[in-house]
Amino acid sequence: MESERKIEQTAPINMSPEEFREIGRSVVNKIADLMESLPERKVTSGEPPSKIKELLKEISVPENGTNAKQLFDEVTSLLFNHSLFTGHPKYWGYITSSSSPIGALSEMIAATLNPNVAAWALSPVASEMEKQTIQWIAEMIGYPNDCGGILVSGGNMANYHCYLTARQTKADLNFTNEGVASNNSKKLLVYASTETHLWLHKAAALFGNGTDSIRWIEVDSDLKINTKELKEQIKQDVENGFKPFMVVGTGGSVGTGAVDPLPEIYKICQEFDLWFHVDGAYGAFAAMLHDAPKDLYSLKHADSIALDPHKWLYAPIEAGCVLVRDKQLLKNTFSFHPSYYKFDEVAGEKVESFFDFGMQNSRGFRALKVWMGIKQVGKSGYQQMISDDINLAKQLYRLAAEHSELEVISTNLSITTFRYVPNDNKSEEYLNEINTKLLTQLQEGGEAFVSNAFINGKYVLRACFVNFRSTIKDVKELVEIIVRLGRSLN
Ligand SMILES: *Cc1c(COP(=O)(O)O)cnc(C)c1O
Repeated sequence: MESERKIEQTAPINMSPEEFREIGRSVVNKIADLMESLPERKVTSGEPPSKIKELLKEISVPENGTNAKQLFDEVTSLLFNHSLFTGHPKYWGYITSSSSPIGALSEMIAATLNPNVAAWALSPVASEMEKQTIQWIAEMIGYPNDCGGILVSGGNMANYHCYLTARQTKADLNFTNEGVASNNSKKLLVYASTETHLWLHKAAALFGNGTDSIRWIEVDSDLKINTKELKEQIKQDVENGFKPFMVVGTGGSVGTGAVDPLPEIYKICQEFDLWFHVDGAYGAFAAMLHDAPKDLYSLKHADSIALDPHKWLYAPIEAGCVLVRDKQLLKNTFSFHPSYYKFDEVAGEKVESFFDFGMQNSRGFRALKVWMGIKQVGKSGYQQMISDDINLAKQLYRLAAEHSELEVISTNLSITTFRYVPNDNKSEEYLNEINTKLLTQLQEGGEAFVSNAFINGKYVLRACFVNFRSTIKDVKELVEIIVRLGRSLN
């Protein structure tokens, strides 16, 4: 018997177009109001975790639904009053950007169409837009635009894809077939500086090589990899029968924005036939500037690059990007074709599907928010905004250097590190302690938000500018806030 209920569309999760219009307008208005009010708000409400937990009072799953309009009123009030706003003009924590308004609206369209960008046949325009986005990203940073690539959730995932492609390409056949049980697997080594992001630790552990397969190379005082030691270590390992397969260079380190000497790493990779990977999650987009740190221009020689559009392209999280010079190598690594997968042709023409280029199967339309950002502002718009970020970091460095109670430590790309140093007490131990307390107060107070780094045993404050909403006034106020907090703690 036909279900009575299914004669008309009355599914509880559906909305009539009229209802959608009405609620949609109200939600968009609330979002615009939030954006407008950001400068007057605190960066975070600073409530303790137990308080936040209490806000979600329902313990059990709701048995019955709630009217959607009422629900949006409730949820916007909950989120807009208790969140940490990465879009606040005074948010400079970690490397998390302000997200673009065009990205927010694009997400709504992507979610509405909901193409499955695993297969071309299920996402015709979306698949082509993702390909175009990858080409544009490559072109923007001076990389060959016939490279392979795929959008993933973020920098870690992008680096994993590159790691796996490097291993697949450089390890011998025994490894490909026998995996970690092969003799060869114990000999595979990867090289990276001690400043490398934690993704490498995870990759080595999770993909079966083990963390002992990482040769951590020391950095010089500028926190860049020591290439002399790198070369020595590789030589020695080769002599001892190991199989080095990959060197990781960092194009903008997560701690201080330092750019490794990529041209020298490239030379070493050529000499020893190693895969040259660049973790450019944060810094690679700066390669589109005419006055970037010049080593960054050697990105173009990399076998693979990991980048984060959700950092310097200001796309809403999540958006990472993999670029691999030789597209076929990316495909060799991720393409498996069971007989029931028939996605190679559409209307008699050959097509490429993204499930062949990465780990995921069903995939969302991540490309739209990135594509729209690039179309809205163009390469020149991004050059301007990235320059502005770098310039604000330099201004902060200058202002801190001029202040008798602040000590500057470093400035690279758009990351500046510094600390509070009272005029009367300068023991290192005390300075670490007072700066730790200062940062906690700053973060919880919500007037501004920066994070920290450890540099040569010093606990330092670290401001990372990936924020198109910040102005020089915000930076000047940060200096005042920090000095005020420092004085009161001292
Ligand atoms: C941010 C960052 C990562 C990690 O990226 P996620 O997007 O957080 O996964 C890796 N490496 C560097 C250099 C980064 O700056």
